[in-house]
Amino acid sequence: MNNIKSKFKEPKIAVSFGFLAVLFLLLIISSKYLPFLLFIAILTISGGLTFFLIYLEFFASTVSHPKVISLDKITELIIEDMREGVVLYTPDFKIIKINPTAEKIFGLKKDEVVGKKISPELVKNKKFKPITQVIFPSLAPVVDQISSEGWPQQVEIKTEEPNLHLITSLNRVTDPQGKTLFFIKIIQDKTREEKILESKTEFITTSAHQLRTPLNAMSWAFESLYNSLEKKELKEIAAQGMDLSERALKIINDLLDVIQIEEGQYGYYFKETGIVDLIEKVVEEARPVAKEYGITLKFEPSASEYNITIDPNRIGIVLSTLIDNAIRYNTENGSVNISIEKLEKEPYLQINVSDTGIGIPPEEIGRIFEKFYRGSAASQAEPNGSGLGLYIVKNIVERHGGKVWVESTPGRGSTFHFTLPLNPSLIPKSKQ
Ligand code: ADP
Repeated sequence: MNNIKSKFKEPKIAVSFGFLAVLFLLLIISSKYLPFLLFIAILTISGGLTFFLIYLEFFASTVSHPKVISLDKITELIIEDMREGVVLYTPDFKIIKINPTAEKIFGLKKDEVVGKKISPELVKNKKFKPITQVIFPSLAPVVDQISSEGWPQQVEIKTEEPNLHLITSLNRVTDPQGKTLFFIKIIQDKTREEKILESKTEFITTSAHQLRTPLNAMSWAFESLYNSLEKKELKEIAAQGMDLSERALKIINDLLDVIQIEEGQYGYYFKETGIVDLIEKVVEEARPVAKEYGITLKFEPSASEYNITIDPNRIGIVLSTLIDNAIRYNTENGSVNISIEKLEKEPYLQINVSDTGIGIPPEEIGRIFEKFYRGSAASQAEPNGSGLGLYIVKNIVERHGGKVWVESTPGRGSTFHFTLPLNPSLIPKSKQ
């Protein structure tokens, strides 16, 4: 409405209405003195001209002569509307500007903070604590430098009371001589996202734990059936049921392991362990499955035992996953060979698990250690997989200070290698 009113104040519109007034005057005069036809002609020309001018003002002018808005105004609008918090401050930490998102994050009103100098002591003041911790990240209880050096400086911050998880990016605006005029801090609030993720993880963990109990019972029931049944065909069905419930249990256990890895709660208990002895035990455990698949399983132990510092349970998972895969992704009458060697030039042991199986296409090799990734041929050969085994393997080996990799030829077979340090000082202090 205001817009229309203002349009009438425009010069062209004023002229248009001037024409209308003349037209009206002519109407009065013409009725008395001029012939009727002349009046019609004037009416047509003036009316046409008037509406043409109105048209020009209302529509054509807005298209052909857009209003010029200053860049400052545009920047201002963008900052105000940003979903990230924005704080501008001088080199002596005086706040110049704070946008509505930042007001929300810090629980502060613009008027309370613009013009105020933020000093580290303000961290003791409940009201200004979050903004002070963002401007001086070292005052936050948890700080993680994301960017290495230079600008922008990116930092991840976690605060308490209030609980906030923020990712901040600090940049500076300089004059042509390079002197800092002001700093600009952009703040991404991850608090809500993290809470959602936490509750999702909690939901998955609880469901996985609850599924474990009935699956264990199912597996046990199938085993009892297998042992008590006489008829070969029925025994086979019971064996299949046993196998499937055990696979489902394995997937659930892998899922729980992955959740713990990602939350940094996958515990490790390192102790000196005879690795040759450990491999022998895992190979013996895998023999029944190898037999079931018709695969020959061989371990060529080295002449001597190596006592190294590892978590035997976790390295046991690495060995059983690699051997299990080598059996399942094998071909009929295939074989699996496990060997161990001491590297000549480096203080590491190398363990190799080699098979004569389906192999891995070159385009898939780079992806098989990713979470949930399953190869195309593997999914066909073995539908009951999770794609989590190698992801867990990689995490465990790297936590021990080793490396894992694969060499493979499709249709010929694969060899998985992993290394473990001989010297405990090569184990990373605490990666998780
Ligand atoms: P899953 O075996 O449940 O699929 P893994 O993480 O253990 O999950 O393996 C990921 C993928 O790596 C498999 O789906 C398969 O494509 C490939 N893979 C692993 N081991 C072998 C192997 N010995 N031979 C061929 N492919 C393998």
